[in-house]
Amino acid sequence: MKIIILGNNSALPAHNRYPTCQVVNIDETYILVDCGEAAQILLKKHGISWSKIRHIFISHLHGDHYFGLVGLINSMSLLGRTEPLNLYAPAALSSMIAQVLAVADTVLSYPLHFIATQDTASILFENDIFSLKTFPVEHRIFCQGLLVTQKAKGRKLLPERCSYYEIPTAYFRQLKAGANYECKDGFVVKNEWVTEDGKPEKRYAFCADTKYTNSFLPHIIGADIIYHESTYLSAEHERAASRFHSTAQQAATIARAANAGQLILGHYSSKYKTVYAFEEEAKMIFPNSVASKEGDIFEI
Ligand SMILES: [Zn+2]
Ligand SMILES: [Zn+2]
Repeated sequence: MKIIILGNNSALPAHNRYPTCQVVNIDETYILVDCGEAAQILLKKHGISWSKIRHIFISHLHGDHYFGLVGLINSMSLLGRTEPLNLYAPAALSSMIAQVLAVADTVLSYPLHFIATQDTASILFENDIFSLKTFPVEHRIFCQGLLVTQKAKGRKLLPERCSYYEIPTAYFRQLKAGANYECKDGFVVKNEWVTEDGKPEKRYAFCADTKYTNSFLPHIIGADIIYHESTYLSAEHERAASRFHSTAQQAATIARAANAGQLILGHYSSKYKTVYAFEEEAKMIFPNSVASKEGDIFEI
């Protein structure tokens, strides 16, 4: 799983930073996480293929998280996209998109499946490879975080050992699930003789825009990487609280409480010309903190 940071600013474009937009790449299926105004430009600039985007998640309806969306879905149609696109967002966005398309007499070239997010934790999508699950955060308006889970791949077969014991390929699925194999004479081949540990589950928690709160902690415990907004430095903690945003130190406190592997910071206020101080503040509490910059790629 790779997380590519595109937009990392809050509210406005400033200091060569743009509003929130990220891509999660799971085996070349792309999930676009929020779609700030510069999304099309940033996707192109960083060579990210639009056709691989199969899912778009919009955390909430503050403009810095979705003003790039209508342009993007329209451009996908202009390019003749035919693959379906799943869009998960607060319900109100559905009628807005319909109206924009209607006034332009535009019919999309592909199926756009709109799935309204709920105000409780819920599974948006699940297949054999990954799942997308929301969890409520606490912001000025309805806002959801997203937990992306790449599933464990099961036991990994050792082909030479399987052929030594003459295990039929039809039984491989059970071996991957951890089963032993019984030969015709009753001899039992133990699973660990013919398999090794597979890739473990991987989890990325995108905590969207939120005030400092541990209310969603149970949903992100043990995540490999957490993205937590840090709109302000700690000197502005009162302003952060009044705007339902967080500071870098507060983000780090949540990452530490969640026992996360790594913390990505972002959603910086435009009042800050550089973001170095964010990383320094966070590292005092949670050493594996990174103040994200456009184009950063994090891999789990
Ligand atoms: Zn925002
Ligand atoms: Zn917001």
